[in-house]
Amino acid sequence: MKIKFWGTRGSLPSPLAAHQVHDKIVQALAAAHGQNLPTEEAALSAWVARHLPFSVRGTFGGNTACVQVSTDGPDYILLDAGTGLRDFAHDYRHQHRRGSKPGFPVGAHFHLFLSHLHWDHLQGLPFFYPIYAEGQHLTIYGAHDKIEEAVRAQFAAPYFPVPYEYLKAKINYQRLSPGQNYEIAGTRVRLCEQNHPGLSYGYRFEHQDRVFVYSTDCEHKQAEAAAADYPLLKFYADADLLVFDAMYSLEEAIYSKADWGHSSNVIGVELAARAQVRRLALFHHDPHNTDAELEETLFNTRMYAELYHQEKGRQNAPGKFPAEVLSSYDGLEVEL
Ligand SMILES: [Zn+2]
Ligand SMILES: [Zn+2]
Repeated sequence: MKIKFWGTRGSLPSPLAAHQVHDKIVQALAAAHGQNLPTEEAALSAWVARHLPFSVRGTFGGNTACVQVSTDGPDYILLDAGTGLRDFAHDYRHQHRRGSKPGFPVGAHFHLFLSHLHWDHLQGLPFFYPIYAEGQHLTIYGAHDKIEEAVRAQFAAPYFPVPYEYLKAKINYQRLSPGQNYEIAGTRVRLCEQNHPGLSYGYRFEHQDRVFVYSTDCEHKQAEAAAADYPLLKFYADADLLVFDAMYSLEEAIYSKADWGHSSNVIGVELAARAQVRRLALFHHDPHNTDAELEETLFNTRMYAELYHQEKGRQNAPGKFPAEVLSSYDGLEVEL
């Protein structure tokens, strides 16, 4: 399985502003000052990758939730339809361009799994070009009531100019239930109910011997999560990659933003360690957080994972869990 992140922000798209790009250039020039820089472009690119922190040479991005799961099968698997879905569609269109016209392959099937129906998980759908083309097939999965109504509403006047009836792709809906096992697009899929305003659902995908868990928009309450039979622990167990809602700091998650429906990096590390997750990816970044702040959060999370392992991990389990902590960003690809 290969996982590609097309959108990693929570709540609201948050593109970089001009002054933030300016600041990155200033920091890059300051770091390059007095260095014996190569002049050849490829060598310069390698220097940038080696010497500048990610927050200076790149960005975590501003698109809201959309993640792609690729297997060796022909179908497309997508999780959530935040604004990152537009970038996926753009890439798809680019790959299937015939001359100046799009030439989408007839019979392409997209499987879109929705965690829930909040806007940051739906807003990209009207900009998903394949739905305007004949010969494309979109199946939308979820466990909520009224998913079709919510999707149709994205196209309703006065909010969007193209009515749902105009869509040319075949679109169908499949209601899923937590606890059931499904075989979809060559993968085994399960859902788990999550604590979030209006509820959300996590998805666990198994393919060959790999496990991927997508668990966003979930508030793990300390007391409940501490229990040995906490349902999400079993749901996360032995994942090769866990995408985790780490929108808030520990203080925000417990005090100032309690009951807002999101979690912290700290509980992410603890649950990943207890569930023996190999890689933990922080996700659903707060739109207020800058690249430098997200980079600092990643650094602190790695430190905490190391301390947690030293304190608790060695007594509990052989091996180190999570072995790796990363912070997702728009465009990141992870091979499982
Ligand atoms: Zn969200
Ligand atoms: Zn939400």
